[in-house]
Amino acid sequence: MKTLFERVFRGSDEMFAKAEAEVNKIAAEVGRDAPLTMPSTAYFLACIYAYIGKKVTNVGELQDALADVKAMMLREPRTNSIFQSGVGTAIAAEMIEACKYVKTDAPYEGTNYHGHFTDAEVRELGVPLVTGDIPGFVVMIGPAPSTEEAVETIKGYQSRGIFVFLIGGIIEQAVEAGVSMGFPVRVVPVGEDIWSVGHVISLVVRAAMIFGAIQPGDVEGFHKYTFERINAFVNAYKPVNDITVACGAGAIKLGFPVITNDHDDMWAVPKSLIIYDDTKDWIDTSIEARGIKLKITKIDIPVSFSSAFEGEIIRKGDMQIEIDGSRKDCFELVLTKDASEVEDHKIEVVGPEMDEFEPGSKISLSYTVEVAGKNMQPDFEPVFERKIHSFLNCVEGLMHTGQRDMIRVRVSKADFEAGFRFRHIGEVLYAKIKSEFDTVVDKCQVRIVVGDEANAELRRQANEVFDKRDERLKSMTDESVPVFYSCIMCQAFSPSHVCIVTPERLGLCGAVSWLDAKATNELDPQGPCQVVTKERCTDERTGRYEDVDEAVAQYSHGALEHVTLYSLLEDPMTSCGCFECICGIEPCSMGVVITCREFAGMTPLGMTFSEMASMTGGGVQTPGFMGHGKHYIASHKFLKAEGGVARLVWLPKDLKDQIRDKLNETAKDLYGIENFADMVADETSCPNGDPEELLAYLTEVGHPVLGMEPFDM
Ligand code: SF4
Ligand code: ZN
Repeated sequence: MKTLFERVFRGSDEMFAKAEAEVNKIAAEVGRDAPLTMPSTAYFLACIYAYIGKKVTNVGELQDALADVKAMMLREPRTNSIFQSGVGTAIAAEMIEACKYVKTDAPYEGTNYHGHFTDAEVRELGVPLVTGDIPGFVVMIGPAPSTEEAVETIKGYQSRGIFVFLIGGIIEQAVEAGVSMGFPVRVVPVGEDIWSVGHVISLVVRAAMIFGAIQPGDVEGFHKYTFERINAFVNAYKPVNDITVACGAGAIKLGFPVITNDHDDMWAVPKSLIIYDDTKDWIDTSIEARGIKLKITKIDIPVSFSSAFEGEIIRKGDMQIEIDGSRKDCFELVLTKDASEVEDHKIEVVGPEMDEFEPGSKISLSYTVEVAGKNMQPDFEPVFERKIHSFLNCVEGLMHTGQRDMIRVRVSKADFEAGFRFRHIGEVLYAKIKSEFDTVVDKCQVRIVVGDEANAELRRQANEVFDKRDERLKSMTDESVPVFYSCIMCQAFSPSHVCIVTPERLGLCGAVSWLDAKATNELDPQGPCQVVTKERCTDERTGRYEDVDEAVAQYSHGALEHVTLYSLLEDPMTSCGCFECICGIEPCSMGVVITCREFAGMTPLGMTFSEMASMTGGGVQTPGFMGHGKHYIASHKFLKAEGGVARLVWLPKDLKDQIRDKLNETAKDLYGIENFADMVADETSCPNGDPEELLAYLTEVGHPVLGMEPFDM
């Protein structure tokens, strides 16, 4: 009879033999010098880089790493060695998968499998992880006992916000049942074979490097990070073969419990290896084993509600009805009212319900959320209002885009059939506003108005409210407000990172403005956003304050002592990992290049977003590179110390278009330049993307950077 030890050792030997064969085969075919790059990552073969500390860039280096992996696979029959061998097994898995990427960038194109994760995907997880919207990850391996059960369990995880990775036969079951899959809906069919698990471990170790600044080669550091901060676990359906058992041992070493119903020479290991026959109960068992706390709000609607549905897209053909703010009078609005004017949980639909429209109709609809509470302030209204986007998108089968009077909401046919109606939009808004903002909202009611005529007048009134708010926002500058705020939300993953949020510089994630930080502070005084005074300015040019330094030192636990608000070169603000954009110095023009997560292409720095992003992060200061939010670019304070936005020489076209008007306005204010956005190069005006071409373009358009002082580097 085999023992668990033997099973792990046998499995890791098997995986290693496969890795050795694949690596040697590809080496014989393409030669040792053939380059090997995984797409859109700056971390090489991330598992090898993390655990062994070696950068694999060609097939020869991959071949050389075989010996290192072999050395990790210990053979003494001690508990610790089997787990250690398990980690070696996962690395061998990465090697097998890497061989597929030698001759092509997209070996899984045209299949149901996702394969390799890009750095941008890893980074995208930052914000939902820190907010708890993604409370954990499950890796489901093998076919479930039935297709129905596979679907039920996948959806069960999804509806709890748990990110699902699928490996093996369960993918076919999901495909057969028509489960919608993909990174945005947080159900990813990774690969057919067990070695595709290498992609998941690669994602995990990159999270540790990106968010936690764990250094390559620091094996203990990785294990500590994954154990403490990554809530992952494994569900392995029987029969589980030796090679999967060995991978499971690796998962346990990383701190991820394995739940299985295979009894074949398995020993339960408390809290780590759980043998549980009733697979229908695995969700609860797993969540408990990993100690995951779920945020649950009970919402009275006939369909699921989970952050996993936020990225869902509803196509025209699947749509029952569309609230179409692009052609009709529509809006969403949050208003503060007197307690006597609000009846708690009143949901009113004025006008026809959904049943009275033809399928596919585009209609005029508005919803106004009225709240009352002793501590409610009108300044919170826009903060609540902006959350509506995420609240409604969490409804399965519903898609929301835009804000204010430019909203578009699609309700799917499936939702309509399940009984979803307009009033349920009210139920969602009521439940979420009451639960998320319970410290200031005592009563809440929602009024939904349907119909062209009524909304024409209501929209006019709503716009008066929006205009007033905009005026207040515009008048808010770093000079005009009494205090700034710190945000340490990302410390869950970047333990020493602190953002200082000011009216003219929002958090680098793009999700926390000064008003948001203020609201967070007042809603939760002990929470992640704290008041930072601004009494002792020591240098206006760079935005240096003694008070800010003290705050940063305190909240970074001494990791950081000095930070400026407006400089890229002198004590720049640190980055965690979830920045929307990153800027870096372009030495030929002495300008600054910006790129963003959505842009996969090359910048004139010869680096992609992933590569630039890897230059900074983990709460570390890196002069010359800085993560920031999209809306910081058009701010009057953007790189003020280095001369302001006139330094900007290149950014992706889509991003430029998003901020074009504000960018032009700011350049006009600061330098009297018209249409500055057109002077900034992008991938269309500089298709080669090299510094010479960029310089020629800047000269041709007379870009102001050419008249500026060189950087003082
Ligand atoms: Fe993280 Fe900074 Fe955004 Fe706060 S403001 S969530 S610390 S990136
Ligand atoms: Zn972050």
